[in-house]
Amino acid sequence: MDRRTFLGAAGALAVTQMMPLAAAAQISAAKPRIVIAGAGAAGLSLASRLRRRMPQATITILDARRQHFFQPGFTLVAAGLWSPADVTFGNAEFLPQGVEWIAEAAAEFDPVANVVVTTGSRRLPYDFLFVATGLFLDYRGIEGMEEGLIGRDGIASIYAGPEAAAASWRAIEAFIDRGGTGLFGRPPTEMKCAGAPLKIAFITDDRARRRGRRGAVELVYNAHREAVFAVRPVDARVKELFAGRGIAINPSHVLVAIDPGARKAVYRTPAGTVTMGYDFIHVVPPMRAPDAVRNSPLPWQSGPLAADGWVEADRATLRHPRFPNVFAVGDIAGVPRGKTAASVKWQVPVVVENLVAETAGREPTAAYNGYTSCPMVTGYGRAMLIEFDYAGDLTPSFPFIAPLDELWISWVIEEKGLKGAYRAMLRGRA
Ligand SMILES: Cc1cc2nc3c(=O)[nH]c(=O)nc-3n(C[C@H](O)[C@H](O)[C@H](O)COP(=O)(O)OP(=O)(O)OC[C@H]3O[C@@H](n4cnc5c(N)ncnc54)[C@H](O)[C@@H]3O)c2cc1C
Repeated sequence: MDRRTFLGAAGALAVTQMMPLAAAAQISAAKPRIVIAGAGAAGLSLASRLRRRMPQATITILDARRQHFFQPGFTLVAAGLWSPADVTFGNAEFLPQGVEWIAEAAAEFDPVANVVVTTGSRRLPYDFLFVATGLFLDYRGIEGMEEGLIGRDGIASIYAGPEAAAASWRAIEAFIDRGGTGLFGRPPTEMKCAGAPLKIAFITDDRARRRGRRGAVELVYNAHREAVFAVRPVDARVKELFAGRGIAINPSHVLVAIDPGARKAVYRTPAGTVTMGYDFIHVVPPMRAPDAVRNSPLPWQSGPLAADGWVEADRATLRHPRFPNVFAVGDIAGVPRGKTAASVKWQVPVVVENLVAETAGREPTAAYNGYTSCPMVTGYGRAMLIEFDYAGDLTPSFPFIAPLDELWISWVIEEKGLKGAYRAMLRGRA
């Protein structure tokens, strides 16, 4: 690409990136009581933007956890490149002035009375509620599995937190020393960062090659259905790369039970139950809404998103259709895509912009298009920058980065760029 094309592309990108900030010039004088449940990626970004755009609002944020985890970095911890400290921040660092933080969880949502009850029995009335609790990792939904097993007997799982990711790295190294069969896969539920189970297979493959031990390990990806990724061109590309690297795929295999002592995993398949022995397994648990949400009137009442308790939400505005003063943002939102931090970056400006417009007597017009993204790491120093929308169309932000090419620049975005962008997002600046 010549300099002129590059500058043109970068300029266009800058304009796109600036749009939410340009809108930030408008301030609402409204004084609503706003409650945000959850101080993760979505909750903190919401708090920062709402504080600036609605300076007279009373904003309360609820989260019992004081630590904040940069979850996209868990993959790099499991690759042996980062430490748990690299992905652990303090929530307080990102809390804007003038926002009250209650260090308790939401225990009960009553959207009829417009009240949230905390685990400490405090009743918080609200005019607007933002549900941003993220999701619950249901390890016990797999018979014989629990979080405490991660790092023991060949069991890895990068989802449970920074220490689990570090334990997974040690498990990968031990597996490469030992040799044998490594199993990978994903749950049949909705899940955050659906690329991560694939990334960890690619990393294990590359690490074994670099250590001269690839011949000693057999790698098998048990896909929950025919596809390994929901977006068709990405699915085809990953299958091609797996074939080239000798990673076998078994379609329609759902992990239902595990026997850690015997190192056996049981899968539900269309042909019945299949048991596989393993030396190493990367377990990705079923994912559901946290109980407080699931047991409330907020989830979908029917359809594919009802059983696991995802909050009913309009896919463009993230507004609850039955309780219009309630919004669901981030992983908890019951929309077909969008369970990535990159999605949060596009969701938060939409809901904030619409609330500001509405409270200022204007028509809310901002819409979220399902933007979802994850740099699909395919080895050390290589990644594909995958971005897509509700329609499953690829939506590359950078015209000079081919989404389905394994590129060093896409790896650099993952390794060097994402954390800074994420921190800026928490401060409502990106
Ligand atoms: C291994 C892994 C790799 C990933 N890779 C990427 C990637 O490459 N790119 C990307 O964009 N995204 C990635 N993600 C996904 C991304 O981290 C999440 O989509 C994002 O954090 C969602 O933000 P959230 O605010 O909805 O949830 P979270 O950030 O999980 O925060 C939810 C918060 O709610 C709190 N909470 C829970 N229940 C309650 C309650 N009842 N009351 C109050 N608070 C509550 C929790 O304590 C938590 O602090 C990855 C995630 C994982 C685990």
